[in-house]
Amino acid sequence: QVSLRLENVTKIFYDKKYNTEVIAVNNSNFEIKPGELITLLGPSGCGKTTTLRMVAGFELPTKGKIYIGNEDVTYLPPNKRDTATVFQSYGLFPHMTVFDNVAYGLKLRKLSKEEIKEKVLSTLDMVGLKDLANRAPSRLSGGQQQRVALARSIIVEPSILLLDEPLSNLDALLREQMRIEIRRIQKSLGITAIYVTHDRVEAMSLSDRIIVMKDGKIIQIGTPNTIYENPNSKFVAGFVGKVAFFDVEVKDIVENKCIIDFRGKILEIPKYESNVEIGSGNVLMARPESLVLKDPKKGLINGKVKINVYLGNTIESFIDTDFGEIMVQIDNPSLKKIYDEGEEISIDIVPELCKILKNE
Ligand code: ADP
Ligand code: MG
Repeated sequence: QVSLRLENVTKIFYDKKYNTEVIAVNNSNFEIKPGELITLLGPSGCGKTTTLRMVAGFELPTKGKIYIGNEDVTYLPPNKRDTATVFQSYGLFPHMTVFDNVAYGLKLRKLSKEEIKEKVLSTLDMVGLKDLANRAPSRLSGGQQQRVALARSIIVEPSILLLDEPLSNLDALLREQMRIEIRRIQKSLGITAIYVTHDRVEAMSLSDRIIVMKDGKIIQIGTPNTIYENPNSKFVAGFVGKVAFFDVEVKDIVENKCIIDFRGKILEIPKYESNVEIGSGNVLMARPESLVLKDPKKGLINGKVKINVYLGNTIESFIDTDFGEIMVQIDNPSLKKIYDEGEEISIDIVPELCKILKNE
């Protein structure tokens, strides 16, 4: 098991035709611990793939260093790095069987026939494809093809596994199953891994830690729980989950509490972000589960139920208010009073579940 470290890594692409520069990755610094799975999460074009390609060696950094363990691999060619990459397009060899696709890397390494057979079959077993060894890839479903691609990359026992949106061609149900599979396999092999996605649910459910990126820059690094509960910015808060923001003035900061005046009512909100200061220029961040519905005028914000979305153990209630549309999540609805669509209601804020962020 090895660690992976990026030190001040920048990648600038020059567009010769238009004579312009694109800063695809802007001074990235992070370290992945041995056996850890880290996700690069961010909108399209934020530099996730470029970061991954530099780790794999397909792209050279403009500046900075990349270390695998203690070894500086910045200028090593891809085949000298002990990394394996799985792409969104599976990249299987169409004229070879599943077995031969998976065996490919071992054949290059000149293992004996028996060794190859044993390893290929046990790896196919691990990804649940043992019975399909003799099929052609074209006769497999998308999910099965992606499993072959995964098997082909893990069979060479890489120290670092790199996955670039590997599930985005699959349907929703399969995606959900496969992300659990990927995590199970990565953990059982103890491979250090980087997973790239723009899908927050995928990132949340797979990762030990998440790196949130925007415009080539790392905005926040943290566990899924930290990123969701304690985002360091409006961008991260909004990217990783549903959220409502209200402009507020912080009146005072006392013992890790922000005292705010919300429409004439004084609320104490836990303080955790060091950049929050007394004064305006702050926002109250409320997740759907930190809001509750009440009878009209009983809560802080008046509104009207626009639509209730039933999701079994929760209801997502979309409310029209003078702050715009706000979603309130009602957990265990059978224990709660449910307001019908079109009903006048009010929304109350649970201060302990909210956060104060600097308005950007
Ligand atoms: P992501 O994977 O997060 O969608 P990318 O890493 O693919 O983002 O791209 C980051 C930025 O770098 C984008 O603006 C993209 O257009 C640009 N870019 C990526 N590869 C190249 C390239 N080979 N030449 C020029 N620009 C590139
Ligand atoms: Mg990409």
